[in-house]
Amino acid sequence: PPRVFSGIQPSGDLHLGNYLGALQRFVRMQDEAYEQTVFCMVDLHAITVWQDPKELAHSTRELAAGFIASGLSPEKSILINQSQVPEHAQLAWIFNCVARMGWMQRMTQFKDKAGKNAEKASLGLFAYPALMAADILIYHATHVPVGEDQKQHLELTRDIAAKFNHDYGVDFFPLTEPVIEGAATRVMSLRDGTKKMSKSDPSDASRINMTDDADAIAKKIRKAKTDPDALPSEAKGLEQRPEARNLVNIYAALSDQSVDQVLAEVGGQQFGAFKPMLADLAVAKLSPISTEMARLMAEPDEIDKILARGAAQAREITAPILQKTYDIIGMVR
Ligand code: ATP
Ligand code: MG
Repeated sequence: PPRVFSGIQPSGDLHLGNYLGALQRFVRMQDEAYEQTVFCMVDLHAITVWQDPKELAHSTRELAAGFIASGLSPEKSILINQSQVPEHAQLAWIFNCVARMGWMQRMTQFKDKAGKNAEKASLGLFAYPALMAADILIYHATHVPVGEDQKQHLELTRDIAAKFNHDYGVDFFPLTEPVIEGAATRVMSLRDGTKKMSKSDPSDASRINMTDDADAIAKKIRKAKTDPDALPSEAKGLEQRPEARNLVNIYAALSDQSVDQVLAEVGGQQFGAFKPMLADLAVAKLSPISTEMARLMAEPDEIDKILARGAAQAREITAPILQKTYDIIGMVR
């Protein structure tokens, strides 16, 4: 039966890329006909790079508030914090023993995040994709909505499932389908059209945070890097213009239109005219969500209760799957 799993790291503030590439699509999938949808704050992933303990706790609750404020419902979906469901980490160890070093060495996220000094990266950052495979497969999830940057990790998840099934001669873990669709599967930095918008980018001006107020959003869009030309009237005209393409993609995703529909409306305009339209649209979409997030954050105990309930529901699925995995491997219980 089709099951959906996806996660976001409490590694900083939620941003427009997370919203358009992930959250907005989680909400749609929640309301479609899947047997189960599970959405996770992946705190174990966040600590693959240093997180201040107070900030980690704050970001985890704020992320939960962002999930709920965006339309995820604890009545319809299982909402969890990763470290509260121990089977994720337990299965990850098994997958550390299934995955090969060479597979991990090819992961572009590791190369990007470790930078030039890979010797100093944590072992967890290297093993990140094995934990991600465990997050997904501990639910036997079949569909995983993510942004374009996670495509390679999902291919690795399939490789891990296939190798486990092959090595133990079973047909146990499903081959998961990535769900990467829409106009905003890769929202780019506002300061550099070749880099994706990220929580971990040190420049706050590079992203629109879901908690930014209207003034901050307008200012960041006004200052966003662009070229001096007017907008083209069809998508082909954006090919060599990464910054222009990014702003048009964002507009399309926020207004639920195709890029061609947007350009039919705004083609020929200068950025001086287009940017305020984009800012208004972003504010209209994000400000009700950030207001609701702030309301939820005023009652952190309620958030903790929701996560505790989610963890209990999740373990009804994950505990038997881990048990069965141990049986397959020959671990004495
Ligand atoms: P970090 O910089 O800490 O890795 P992040 O901004 O990349 O944070 P993640 O928590 O790693 O966010 O990713 C959560 C989800 O958001 C994933 O599905 C990812 O593909 C998606 N996502 C992240 N950034 C973007 C982006 N710029 N555009 C579209 N989707 C994105
Ligand atoms: Mg990321």
